[in-house]
Amino acid sequence: MTDTVLYLAPVEEDGSLSRLSLEALSAASSVAVGLGAQFVAGLFGGDVSSGMRSIAGCGAARFLAVQTEMVSQPRYSTDAAAAEAIARAAGATIILGPHSSRLARVAAGVASRLHGCIDTHVAAIHTNPGSFGITRWFYRQRIEGGVQRTLRPWFLLIDSGVAPAFTAAVADVDPEFIAVPVPTIRTATLGIETSSAGEQTIRPDADMLFVAGAGWTRKQRDGALHVEEAEELILDFVRSSRSSLGSTKSLTDSAGEGQTVLHCLSHLNQVGQTGSTPRHPKGLSTCCHGEEPHVVGWRFVRERRAVNLDPNCGWARGKADVLYLADAFEVMRHLNRLFHPP
Ligand SMILES: Cc1cc2nc3c(=O)[nH]c(=O)nc-3n(C[C@H](O)[C@H](O)[C@H](O)COP(=O)(O)OP(=O)(O)OC[C@H]3O[C@@H](n4cnc5c(N)ncnc54)[C@H](O)[C@@H]3O)c2cc1C
Repeated sequence: MTDTVLYLAPVEEDGSLSRLSLEALSAASSVAVGLGAQFVAGLFGGDVSSGMRSIAGCGAARFLAVQTEMVSQPRYSTDAAAAEAIARAAGATIILGPHSSRLARVAAGVASRLHGCIDTHVAAIHTNPGSFGITRWFYRQRIEGGVQRTLRPWFLLIDSGVAPAFTAAVADVDPEFIAVPVPTIRTATLGIETSSAGEQTIRPDADMLFVAGAGWTRKQRDGALHVEEAEELILDFVRSSRSSLGSTKSLTDSAGEGQTVLHCLSHLNQVGQTGSTPRHPKGLSTCCHGEEPHVVGWRFVRERRAVNLDPNCGWARGKADVLYLADAFEVMRHLNRLFHPP
């Protein structure tokens, strides 16, 4: 049986596709080509027109869309209904989409409704005809396993960094609009509150990871704490450089122990063995010792630099490409001045 490969993604609030969605599109199109399969692209959202235009050149034979107010905001019942309708209309046997929180929330349910199966956190795809398979992560990215399945449809959610983001000239597309019966709606998004007191500092798409370690909240060379200044320096840099803010476990744990803390951080910022494993091209670590349980969270960060006062810190032992032996307060003051010249 010839496969039909469906690329499935929600559009963002502004109608565009996220970088992760565009990466999944590159992966889906390579699978379709590799398997000699029919390729269908499906988008859902309040207004899919600009998303459709951006993927016009992806090589799909059909473009499907669910475009209605009901899927303008993420919600299990309506997103699942839209995804199911697109998958059925496509007659898809292999469905690829981004491993975003929005799609990951509904994809398993949709796979079940279609009597199919699903694999998430897909890290590589092997498109040999006759032995189509994937490599995926298990147990929070500690174990990598190869998977082949005969059950169809097979839903695959692709992790970031697996394929380059799709780019092509925009062009008009005349998609097939699919009507979806409105399911029972019990949930509405009234607004978004970030878990940390202030702004959203976790930016998975950022070019750089900036890590703050517990040293920022320790007594400094003058014997005093400078936590307020630390918070200002960190947030100023993160805002100016548009980097993503990570932290160590020691720093986020100290909040629970009633110590002086950086209010801009929560456990969601924690990078490491018991935290996240973000994927940024570059990383800069400050006031962080660079112990293995933390650095293991840096495994996908390709270029690593650290600022530490201690020449024997963990970063010095082969864990960073460059270690600056310096006072992070001084370094960050200087860097921030470069962003705001007088
Ligand atoms: C099972 C287990 C799981 C763990 N999981 C994680 C995890 O997921 N993530 C994680 O981060 N940790 C984790 N840890 C904890 C980890 O082992 C370390 O204890 C932690 O990362 C240390 O945090 P830190 O480097 O911020 O603090 P510290 O070890 O206290 O280091 C502070 C550093 O700041 C430097 N410093 C101080 N002032 C300055 C200055 N002005 N300029 C420059 N440098 C300065 C000091 O030289 C020092 O090296 C785990 C531990 C265990 C046992």
